[in-house]
Amino acid sequence: MDYERFFADRIGTLKSEGRYRIFADLERQAGDFPRALNYRDGEVTEVTVWCSNDYMGMGQHPEVLAAMHEAIDRCGAGAGGTRNISGTNHYHVLLEQELADLHRKEAALLFGSGWMANLTALSTLGAMLPNCVILSDAKNHNSMIEGIRHSKADRRIFKHNDVEDLDRLLGEYGDDRAKLVAFESVYSMDGDIAPIGEIVDVARKHKAMTFIDEVHAVGMYGARGGGVAERDNQMHRIDIIQGTLAKAFGVVGGYIAGSAAFCDFIRSYGSGFIFSTSMPPGVAAAALTSIRYLKEHDEMRQRHQERAATLKRRFTEAGIPVMPSVSHIVPILVGDPVLCKQASDDLLVRHGVYVQPINYPTVERGTERLRFTPTPLHTDDLMDHLVDAVREVWSRLGLRAAA
Ligand SMILES: *Cc1c(COP(=O)(O)O)cnc(C)c1O
Repeated sequence: MDYERFFADRIGTLKSEGRYRIFADLERQAGDFPRALNYRDGEVTEVTVWCSNDYMGMGQHPEVLAAMHEAIDRCGAGAGGTRNISGTNHYHVLLEQELADLHRKEAALLFGSGWMANLTALSTLGAMLPNCVILSDAKNHNSMIEGIRHSKADRRIFKHNDVEDLDRLLGEYGDDRAKLVAFESVYSMDGDIAPIGEIVDVARKHKAMTFIDEVHAVGMYGARGGGVAERDNQMHRIDIIQGTLAKAFGVVGGYIAGSAAFCDFIRSYGSGFIFSTSMPPGVAAAALTSIRYLKEHDEMRQRHQERAATLKRRFTEAGIPVMPSVSHIVPILVGDPVLCKQASDDLLVRHGVYVQPINYPTVERGTERLRFTPTPLHTDDLMDHLVDAVREVWSRLGLRAAA
């Protein structure tokens, strides 16, 4: 077999469909968020980042940086092992306590990433709960899908955010069958939000466990940043909450929070937890500081929501097709992969606006879009510039207007 030829052919397929991914080569400027340097074709230019998942700019917050510096000076660069073999640093213990408190659960467990937290928790649960069936929302993130697939448990997909469909599917199984309902709170490509209370009602009616991915909500929703479940007063009704330290908390790492027995079970049986080196102490210290800061600064969340609402309004006034979103995510529809990439390139090169094109398979074909994530640090001036830039690109490329 001609292996190299095979690889090149598969890449060729992506290119011909206009969905070959090119990474923007950035250098973030600490203290100047959301500005960054962009390396491209041998040149370096300054750009404004409009698509970062560092939703609150905490990745550059002075208190977070100070905590990270201090932990590096005290403990060094790496953790030195897996959690079981010399790699549990006191910062990990403090961080897990903080996360348990954030979600008002008995315990929490850290992972190298949110992706790994989902994969490990769902694959371990699905494989070990006897004769388990997992009910999975149709728009669940890849990390949940992979975890469920890996578990080899029976899997049923319910229509996105459709409580009746979930009820119908759950009704096919008897009370004695182990069942797990897995879903997200904020869906990050459309910006819609799950009806958490209703989903939990239905799950409880059928004696199913609940697992929620709050990756795009922790730090941003709820009075203390506990997520949409906190905002909706549902946190105590959900069995397992999964989150990330990489998005609003601005660092890296993932976690689950739940009962002491559940966390101990994953700690003891989850391969993705057991056999991977724990996060560097500096990362844990930074995340700890970020969580504590956001817990106490609800005004950041209010400012975040205001910025998102303002950007949606301003795009709408300019005739730009904003997709319906009830969250901080501001997607605008292009509906074609090649034009989506072109619009993104033009915004970058002509206007210094960086927003990544979102194409299939991340979203369905025909719904290709640009996805903006305004943060509390995106000023009115930056928005003025953005709206003018988008308007110019829309009219020059003849992109579709708002319906
Ligand atoms: C980003 C993301 C993850 C993975 O989290 P990481 O910490 O980036 O690995 C999990 N779930 C959803 C919905 C995500 O968008």
